Amino acid sequence: MSYVDRIIQQVEEKDGDEPEFLQCVKEVLNSLRPVVESDEKYEKAGILERLVEPEKSVVFRVPWVDDQGRVRVNRGYRIQFSSSIGPYKGGLRFQPNVNSSVIKFLGFEQIFKNSLTGMPIGGGKGGADFDPKGKSEAEIMRFCQSYMTELFRYIGPDTDCPAGDMGVGAREIGYMYGQYKRICGSYKAGALSGKGLSYGGSIGRMEATGYGAVYFTQEYFKTIGRQIKDTVFAVSGFGNVAWGVVKKIDELGGKVVTLSGPDGYIYDPDGVTGEKIDYMLEMRTSNKDCVKDYAKKFHAEFYPGEKPWGKVKADVYMPCATQNEIHEEDAKRILEEGHSRILIEVANMPTTQEAMDLLMEKGVTVLPSKAVNAGGVAVSSLEMVQNAEHLSWKKEEVDERLHDIMKDIFCNIDKAAKKYGCPGNYVAGANLAGFEKVADAMLCQGIC
Ligand code: GLU
Repeated sequence: MSYVDRIIQQVEEKDGDEPEFLQCVKEVLNSLRPVVESDEKYEKAGILERLVEPEKSVVFRVPWVDDQGRVRVNRGYRIQFSSSIGPYKGGLRFQPNVNSSVIKFLGFEQIFKNSLTGMPIGGGKGGADFDPKGKSEAEIMRFCQSYMTELFRYIGPDTDCPAGDMGVGAREIGYMYGQYKRICGSYKAGALSGKGLSYGGSIGRMEATGYGAVYFTQEYFKTIGRQIKDTVFAVSGFGNVAWGVVKKIDELGGKVVTLSGPDGYIYDPDGVTGEKIDYMLEMRTSNKDCVKDYAKKFHAEFYPGEKPWGKVKADVYMPCATQNEIHEEDAKRILEEGHSRILIEVANMPTTQEAMDLLMEKGVTVLPSKAVNAGGVAVSSLEMVQNAEHLSWKKEEVDERLHDIMKDIFCNIDKAAKKYGCPGNYVAGANLAGFEKVADAMLCQGIC
């Protein structure tokens, strides 16, 4: 049995009850075959068996009191997956469907994503099965404070630096940082990123994931002679990531015609522009978690319970909502509709393996999320640098660095795909390029 097959089998046996984690381990490991099976040093050093096992993971109780005085308890997580190339780095997700499988898949992805940024950051992820939907401001604050009261002992500027993810934005980071500072008794700004601009946050962090995804798209477009301004995009989601994507596409003259939420999708053939973009932020902070209101306010079409894949005419599909939102039947519909041949993943692992295999087999170009959405964590890392320097950089400086990072990522994954004999397979290219640096660091540092 080959090295890769042996490790996949081992993960199936040990963690077979964690479907999301297993899915992403299989995707990554299968594409690493050309490198790990070409030189026995990887197997000798146990690189893969060490990579699939988090260095440390904590699960903890998060008790809090709701506005009615009732005691509530949620489950908190922090997985510190790999510190081979730097302190653990990765977001916190507050969502009812958070469990150890989801956090482990996100943490595993983060190892390779963070490596691709070229910044010295390891991989980690955390969160809680807390549902922000319908919660009052005071409840959110109490929850964040309680969460940090346990998390604080595991994080720090040189240890682990969490940030936001779904359900965690600037507001939640603010409450968590306040509590962290209070417990520590000192101002360690680099212990959390995504902070507000008045207390150590980086300008441009909020837009970074979305802007980075569009800069990345521009690099790919150069190879096929396309421009953002002549392109129609179908986007899913309506949160922070989708907002940044829509804002940058609009600025560059392109058109976004869909947004989605758990309640369905909206189709706005005139394009999401101007005040409609600002309204996306209002929808996010309202904690209602739906997009129907957009359709009402701006006279757009609303399709309850549906997703836009293959249902609207667009040149490019850009899933920005959540994992596994494009299933095999969506892929079939995309192929039948026949207009779009480009899938740009912005949410983490938005495509199921079956859908991905089908699309790639039929020649659809897939740009993988761990490369496309790396701009968010890249600017988080720039925030850590600014905090260590006790400085704040100007908008132009952050934006220029983000732009350069995204260009380099595209160039590196393209090169890796060519080097290992799969040109144009950006999914494999991203895994291979991300892996090379981490594996090299692991080989240098001995068995640890
Ligand atoms: N949650 C984001 C991601 O998936 C950002 C993490 C960070 O900024 O640390 O990469």
